[in-house]
Order: sequence, then C-alpha cells, then structure tokens
Amino acid sequence: MLISNELLTDEAKDLKTAVREFCKREFKDTLKWDESQNMPYELWGKMGDIGLTGMMIDTNLGGIGPDALLSVVIMEEMAVYSPAVALSLGAHSILAGNVINRAGSKEQKAQFLPDIASGKKIASICLTEPERGSDAAHPKTRAIKNGDKYLLRGQKIFITNAPVADIFVVYADTIEDGKSVGVSAFVVEKSDEITVDKMHKMGMRASPTGIVYFDDVPVPKENILRGVGEGVHIMMEGLDAERIGLSGENLGMMKGSLDVAAKYAEERIQFGKPIISYQLVQEKLAYMLGELELNRTYLYSLANLWNENKGDKKLRTATAISKIRSAEAAVKCAEEAIQVLGGYGYTSDYYPQMYWRDAKMFAIGAGTSEMMKLLIARRIAQGFNDL
Ligand SMILES: Cc1cc2nc3c(=O)[nH]c(=O)nc-3n(C[C@H](O)[C@H](O)[C@H](O)COP(=O)(O)OP(=O)(O)OC[C@H]3O[C@@H](n4cnc5c(N)ncnc54)[C@H](O)[C@@H]3O)c2cc1C
Repeated sequence: MLISNELLTDEAKDLKTAVREFCKREFKDTLKWDESQNMPYELWGKMGDIGLTGMMIDTNLGGIGPDALLSVVIMEEMAVYSPAVALSLGAHSILAGNVINRAGSKEQKAQFLPDIASGKKIASICLTEPERGSDAAHPKTRAIKNGDKYLLRGQKIFITNAPVADIFVVYADTIEDGKSVGVSAFVVEKSDEITVDKMHKMGMRASPTGIVYFDDVPVPKENILRGVGEGVHIMMEGLDAERIGLSGENLGMMKGSLDVAAKYAEERIQFGKPIISYQLVQEKLAYMLGELELNRTYLYSLANLWNENKGDKKLRTATAISKIRSAEAAVKCAEEAIQVLGGYGYTSDYYPQMYWRDAKMFAIGAGTSEMMKLLIARRIAQGFNDL
C-alpha cells in the first residue's frame, strides 16, 4: 500500500483520473511542442471546458475553488504529459487568478475572474524584473498617478504566458505627488502600450515566456487590488498556496520518469535478458518510487493542511522544504530515467530529457532554492529545541 493515496479525497482522486484521461487524449504532441517552443492556443479553451483554468478561483465565479489539494493533483497529472503546459496553466490560475481571487474586490473579481476561470482570457503574473529577481518586493517598475489613473512604466522579465496574455497582474512602485507610496498590485489589460519579446529557454519550452515592456500604460485606479501600498502583503500571503500547487509538477515529472524507465527496462533486452532483471537497473527504479512516494506524501499532507488553515503562515517552512526537495528529486529521477534508457534517453524522442530540463526550473521559479534555504534557516534561528 502506498501512503500517499490515502491522503487524497474522493474528489481529488476523481479529478486526477479526469485530468489523466484529458491529457492522454489532448497531449499527443508534447515533444513537438517542446521542439517548436509553442503550445497550441486552442488548448486553453479545452482546459477551460473541464475546469482546469479555474484553479484557486471561487466556484461562484466559474472556478473549482481555493483548494490546494485539487491544484496539486491537476499539476501532477498534467506534468506527466507536459510540464510546460502545466506551468502555463499554473501561472494563469494558481498565480494570477489566485491573486485576484484573494485580493480583489467583489467588482474586480466579477470583472476579471469568470473569463480567467473559463480560459477565455489568459493571465500572467509580473513580479520579476531585469534588476529585481529574488528581491522582487522592491520593483523598479513605477505606476505614476495621473488624475484618475496610473501610468505604468517599466519592464518585467521571465513572465510566463506574457506572449499570449490578455491580463497582466503587475507589481509596481506607486508614485503619488512625486513620492513613493509603496508597492501596489495592478490588474492590467492588454493594450498598445504593452509590448512583449518572447524568450527562448532550455526547458519549459512549450510554455511561452516573455519580457514585457510597459510604456506609460494607462491603468484605472479601480484596477488596484485591495488598495495603494498593499502589493507586498498580497505577494507574500499567497506564496504558500502558489509553491504547494506548482510543486505538484515535480511529482508528475517523477511519475513520468518512473513510468518511461520501468516500461523501457521491461522491454529492452541486453545479454539475453530484459534489463529490468539487473539489480543496478532495479536500484534506479526503486529510488524513483521512493522519492515519488516521500515527496507525494509530504506535498499532499501540506496541501491538506493548507486547506484546513486556508493559508496559515505556519506552513511557510514546510512549503520551502517541499519545494526544494521535490525539485531536486524531479531532476534526479529524470536523470536516472535517461540512464536507464541509455543512448535513447539522450535523444529528443523520449520524455525524460524533457523532464530533466523542465524540472530544473523549480529550483529557480517562485523563489530559488537558495531563498527557500534562507527561509528554513530563519525558522531554525527562531529556536530549534522543538524541531
Ligand atoms: C521558466 C521560468 C518562468 C518564470 N515565470 C515567471 C512569472 O510568470 N512571473 C515572474 O514574475 N517571474 C517568473 N520567473 C522568474 C523567477 O521567479 C526568477 O527567475 C527567480 O525569482 C530568480 O530571480 P533571478 O532570475 O533574477 O535571479 P537572482 O535573484 O538574480 O538570483 C541569482 C542567484 O543568486 C542567488 N541569490 C540571490 N539573492 C540571494 C541571497 N540573498 N542569498 C543567497 N543567494 C541569493 C539566487 O538564489 C540565484 O542562485 C520565471 C523564471 C523561469 C526560469
């Protein structure tokens, strides 16, 4: 018996099966998307039809509700088939949609969320800047008050979905009467004053990433989330749910690596026997299942705790631990799978090389592993007798 399965609700189990069936049907060309650095635009509507674009968005606005466990299982299952599409989906709803759902007024939520939840409009979240990466709480992008609106001026980089986005959630230093009044979060709709350059990456290649230029974009004051100067608070309070949901992808890549390697090892004959009969190959498969089960059990537990507490900050250290360890394990499992496949694993015909490149992203995005370690160290500094 695997413990992780016992931690899933019936709803999560059903959803996992539904996502798997959907991906089996719709994700036949993943390796081609990886090669061409593009995902088909029509996928957004199809994902919307079965509710996947509505993660972390209230049910009365068309979403599946702020539920970390459901986000994890969606990301997990989709990442088996395409980690890059899962990343785009996660940035759209677990990051951007979630921010508006948490911090938006009734009017703002009604204006933006139904189209995001249905996949009719694609959303992105803009924190990182060329000079502000890990230090994202101090953006150089400025929103300068001009009558009833703000003029948004600056540059964001590495923005998932930017080349196709209709909606940008942007964190900017807010300037009123020539002075900074703090960082605010703005919901910005696509306009002529926004231009995007597509970036080319080593992994997550089917997920479109861009550099976004805001050239005095007029944004109505009604589009500020929660209030002027609330941006950093909004950014920080959502981190756990974002990191838990996105880490689901690491589970999917581990599972995908194990599936491909085990099947190949059963079929590949060397020295007259399937290579799965060799103990050095079995060791790799056993390692993969061990990492998958440990990380799954931990992440599902975290997601259940988040659901009980709805974002209690007490989960921050545990979330950081899960993010680091699952990202490392996903890279290592992909590497072991490549090894089991020998030379074939090194070609672009098999998934593990893609998982290997894709998984590396999770040591960087949504807080680097070093920033996660600093968070963990801070917890130790608060006292370690009870650890
Ligand atoms: C595929 C992909 C998709 C992304 N999508 C988005 C998105 O949708 N929206 C968005 O806003 N951003 C996105 N990002 C950006 C990502 O969040 C940043 O790359 C990340 O936060 C790190 O910032 P940086 O790249 O500027 O690195 P830096 O912050 O410059 O860090 C460089 C190195 O220095 C280390 N470092 C920095 N400060 C410290 C410190 N105090 N102590 C110890 N080490 C330190 C880092 O850990 C890292 O190893 C994406 C990135 C990638 C790769």
